[in-house]
Formats: sequence, C-alpha cells, structure tokens
Amino acid sequence: MTTGKIGVTTENIFPVIKKFLYSDHEIFLRELVSNAVDATQKLRTLSSFGEYKGELGELDVRVTVDKEAGTLTVSDRGIGMDAADIDKYINQIAFSGAEEFLAKYKDTANSIIGHFGLGFYSAFMVSKKVEINSLSYREGAEPVRWSCDGSPEYSLEKGDRTERGTDIVLYIDDDSREFLEQARIDTLLRKYCRFLPVPVISGKEQEWKDGAMVDTDRDRVINATEPQWMKKPSELTDEDYLKFYRELYPGQDDPLFWIHLNVDYPFNLTGILFFPKIKNNFEVTKNRIQLYCNQVYVTDSVEGVVPDFMMLLQGVIDSPDIPLNVSRSYLQADTAVKKISSYITKKVSSRLDDLFKTDRKEFEQKWPDIRIFIEYGMLTDEKFCDAALKFTLLEDTDHKFYTLDEYKTLVEPSQTDKDGDIVYLYTTDPVAQYNYIRAANDRGYNVLLMDGQLDSHFVGLLEHKAEKTRLVRVDSDVLDNLIRREGSRSVDLTATQRNILTTLFSSQTPEVDKAMFVVSFEALAPTDQPIVITQNEYMRRMKDMAAMQPGMNFYGDMPDSYTLVVNTSHPLVEKLRDAATEALASKVEPLEKTVEDDNAAIEKLRAEAKDGKLDAEAEQRTSELTAAVAAARDEQTKLIKEYATTQPVARQLIDLALLGNGLLRGRDLSAFIARSVELIGK
Ligand code: ADP
Repeated sequence: MTTGKIGVTTENIFPVIKKFLYSDHEIFLRELVSNAVDATQKLRTLSSFGEYKGELGELDVRVTVDKEAGTLTVSDRGIGMDAADIDKYINQIAFSGAEEFLAKYKDTANSIIGHFGLGFYSAFMVSKKVEINSLSYREGAEPVRWSCDGSPEYSLEKGDRTERGTDIVLYIDDDSREFLEQARIDTLLRKYCRFLPVPVISGKEQEWKDGAMVDTDRDRVINATEPQWMKKPSELTDEDYLKFYRELYPGQDDPLFWIHLNVDYPFNLTGILFFPKIKNNFEVTKNRIQLYCNQVYVTDSVEGVVPDFMMLLQGVIDSPDIPLNVSRSYLQADTAVKKISSYITKKVSSRLDDLFKTDRKEFEQKWPDIRIFIEYGMLTDEKFCDAALKFTLLEDTDHKFYTLDEYKTLVEPSQTDKDGDIVYLYTTDPVAQYNYIRAANDRGYNVLLMDGQLDSHFVGLLEHKAEKTRLVRVDSDVLDNLIRREGSRSVDLTATQRNILTTLFSSQTPEVDKAMFVVSFEALAPTDQPIVITQNEYMRRMKDMAAMQPGMNFYGDMPDSYTLVVNTSHPLVEKLRDAATEALASKVEPLEKTVEDDNAAIEKLRAEAKDGKLDAEAEQRTSELTAAVAAARDEQTKLIKEYATTQPVARQLIDLALLGNGLLRGRDLSAFIARSVELIGK
C-alpha cells in the first residue's frame, strides 16, 4: 500500500470545497454519474476502433444507496483505471488550477456555484470518505483501491474488483444523510441525468400490490438515452416533438411551434426550442430553457446564453462549447456564447419568417400568442428587430392583418397629412374609444389595434422605424388636427364670442377626479360631435411609460389632462353662441374695453418710467389700474357664469362628451340623467 499527498498546494482544500460549494452540494451526483458515463463511452469508442477486444457486456451505470452502511455507490463498466491512471487523473491532475481558480473567484463564489464542476472531488462535499475501486480495461491490469478521508492524504492499494469498471463509494457525511434516501437520489437523477446517453439504473421498478407501491425485482432505468434533440429533424414527427414537450413541461398547453437547432460549425449546438402559449398577463418567466452539456443537465438559468427576449421560450439547448466553469459575467462576455446567442436569434427569426411565408393564415392565427414575444424581441434586440420587420403584423380594429409594407400602402393615400407625414391611427381600447374609431372609420381612416401589453413601447419603435410616419391614438385630438389637410376650415368667432364661450363652457365643466380640462375651439364638420374630448398623445405616452417603470410615479400622480374641443360648426354650438352673444355682448364688451384700456394705460406708465423705475405717483396709479382690470375681469366672469347656469344645453353637451369617455360618474351622472329627462319634456 502506498500513501501520498494529493497534488494540490493548498493544504486544506477540502474544507474550502465544502464551504465553497455549500449551497449546491447536490451536483456531486451529476459529476460522478457523468464521469461514469464518460468512462463507458470511452470504452465503446476503444472497442469500435478495435483497441479493446473483450466483451462489452451490459454497459450501464448504477447508483446504489445502502442506508445501513451509510454509502452511496456509483458503478460503471467503463474503461476503469489502474494505479498509474489514478495517480495521473485523480492525484495530480484533478486539482491543477483549482487553487488559482479559488483565488480568482473568491469574491464571486456564489455566482459560480453549480457551474464550476469540481468533478470527482465534488464527492467530498457530501462524504467523510471516498473510495475508488477500479479495474482497468487493459489486459493484465491489476485492480486498485484508492481511498481518501477528506484530508489531502490518500492511500492506494491493491483492490479486489474482478470486473472491468469503477465503483466510486461515498461514505456519506452525517450532515448529508439526505443523500442516503432513494427518493432524494431519484429526484436528482431525474433532474441531472434524464437524458444521459448510457442507461442509468437506480432502485427498482415499482408496482401496485395489496394497496401499496412495492419494489419489483426489475431494475429501474432513470433516463431516455436518445433524447429527441439528438435526433435528426427528418426522423421526427410533429407528434414526437409534442410528446417531448409534454414530457419536459407536464401540464402545459401545447406549444405553438418549435425550432430544432443543429449546428456543428463554428460551435457545437443541438436543441429544440418551443414557443409556448403565453398567457395574456405578461410575465417574463425565467428559468425555462434547460441547458445541457453532452446530455448532462447543467442549469435552467440561461441568461447570457440565449438573448434576453428568448427567455420566453422553452426547451433544451445542448452544447459542449458553453463554458460552464465560469461566472456569469464572464459567460456574457464569452465570444462562443455570443455567437451561440446570435445564432439562436437568427434561427428563430428565420423560422418565423418561414412560417409567415409558407402559411400566412396559420401565422395570423397564432399572431395573438406570438406577438408579445416578437414585440419584446424587437424592442430589446436590434438584429432581431431588423429581421422581424418583414413578418411583423399589424392588426386593425376589423381584425385584419397587414405587414408593415402592406399597411403603409393601405393608408398612404388617405392618411397623409399636408406635410407629407403618414399618420397611423391606433386605439388601445376599442370599446372605450369606440366613438373615435367610428368617427375615423367614417372618414375612411383605418385604426390599428394596439392593446397589447408592450404596445405603448412598440408604438414608439414603429414610429422610429417607419420614415415620415406618426402614430397617434385616435382620441388624442380631433381628426382634422390628427391628419391636417390644406385649406381646413378656420374657427369663425369674434374675440368677444371666444371670450364668452370659453368661460361659459369651462364654468360648466364638472370637477372630475384626476382629470383636468382645457377648452378649445375647432371648426369641425357640422355633422361631427358638438364637443369632443381628446387627450394629448405626448402626455399620455409619458404617463403610460411611467406606469410601467418603477420610480417614475411623478408622472403617474399627475392628473390626466384633456382638451374639451368645442365644434364651432355644429348647429347646437352655433345656437348657443348666438344666444350668448345676444345676451352678453353688450355687457361684456364695455368691461373688456375697460380691461384693454387699463392694461394699455399700465403699459404706457411702465414705458415712461425712468430707468424702468416707477415713481410713487405712477406706482399708485398702476396698482389702481391693475385692481380695476381684475375687477372688470371678475365682473365678466360672474356675468357669463350666471348666464351659463341658465343654459342647460351647454352643460348637457359637456356631459355627453364626458359620458362618451367614461368620465361622467357619481353625482354628476345622476344630475345628467335628471336634466336629460327634464330636457326631453320641454
Ligand atoms: P473531469 O471529469 O473534468 O476530467 P474529474 O475530476 O471528474 O475531472 O475526473 C478526472 C479524471 O479521472 C477523468 O478525466 C477520468 O480520466 C478519471 N475518472 C474519473 N472517474 C472515472 C471513472 N468512473 N472511470 C474511469 N475514469 C474516471
């Protein structure tokens, strides 16, 4: 028997390993089973090259729990090791670089846990002693037994194994006894070893007998040795993909479609990505794509490997080229990873493009489900965005679909304004904005449906991508202003009339919680509504954006500001105007004259002042005049307000407009109803 020191310079490496990988102890099983699988595959290779001439026999890997002995054993019938191999691979090599690694990543230890396979030595995370019993495939090899109790000292002696292969026996630590539970081991094997290429056997098949599940004497194979993604797409039917999906994600709706990835240059990558049916409420559900390395499960947090927006996809990516033994920030900077990420982006966009080209109808049907994904992709990934511009669809309020080019062709003739900008009208709520949509449709304008979760951002993107194009919500102004034409009608009001009507309407506008109204005048068509309420596009967008971003409450708390657009061409408004002019002009005009004269006098005094400073007398006179202006204004307002109360029609028109926007509520609504009944009776 020989003893020796493991070739590591750090004296107490084992306590470090234990602490270092503390939160992810379970990966030891993955490491040991993959080593066993590797050893088996190597033997197969040697055999196929004729370098190994013996019988292969049953090549499987067994994981055996012996609770009484306190051991967990991973056995294989692979190439095995002799004393020289153990010395070379276990004693010397395994730890070269470990010390450097620890020094380098001390501070980011947490981020690498689970990605740094310590390989064989991870066994010490859960064991007080580890034994290797091995017999090499080489002719005349001597069996060896290596043993180490977690200190850097090991012993190596002649073993008693008679069959080719290796047993790794773990004497499980007291604080890791969970790994002596078959159920726990089953869970781990299912997680990490489900798709390994060599059968992994653990425990027995169970059957239902006398009211309980009992072990049979049949070995239980944990894994599917030929997972779908390793097969050629031509060998698989749609049903195969669906079956695989259901196996991976039980209890979910079937996916919309899938992409089979298969590259071997400039990197190796296989996999199947599924487009899930995403539920309406938008949530970026992470950790769904599973990452494998040669069929060994590694992780399901794939940030950095796939582009961000593809986190919404599901499925499997398998690549030996993704460096797993590094921290996340390093992963993101890795060029292989970047290439993989952009390859996936390209594959996904070309698959979508194909689908669009070969079966537009189906694509349109799936659009409501994939739209959120495509929009998210376009917003976050420039390359994807450029590719997606070809197959992105716009949906209008009649649920017709258009590509961007088609839509432009559709609306260009009718919705180009006098400056040559094409104006796209959209709605975020076809029910609430129904009136506006109808008014637009009546003029032959098309209205887009932008009611998706991401649309407030997407609208901005479209505007950015399409030249000379503006997107405006259909209720953000009156149509004449949204799409301005040459020679549009001008408002025909005298200064006095404007003055009177402004106060008349604003004094009759009820207080609405979280809303502010400004009165303005437009000469719309006589057949348009008498009053239209609009909401400024820019302000609304700011508020919408703020609502989606934490810390922007400043905008969120501001009241919504609306414009009460009075249609001066509407007969009812004309009637109101004429009646008000007749009743008020003779009283208001002299007051207005006083205001003008006094203001002019103030201006004059200021202009005459020396060095811009008024003397005492001028000062006195100015303040008298200012008071007179205010008094005349107050008097005007009072007169108009009093008159307004005698004009239920003005109030009625305002309320109708509010009602059309869901802004008339509570006390004001019931007053409106009472007034309506009264007016009908007249
Ligand atoms: P890695 O697997 O990353 O090379 P490990 O520490 O897990 O690192 O293993 C070191 C080496 O020990 C392996 O490369 C292999 O040569 C040898 N080895 C480990 N387990 C086995 C086994 N079950 N059968 C044969 N050789 C093994």
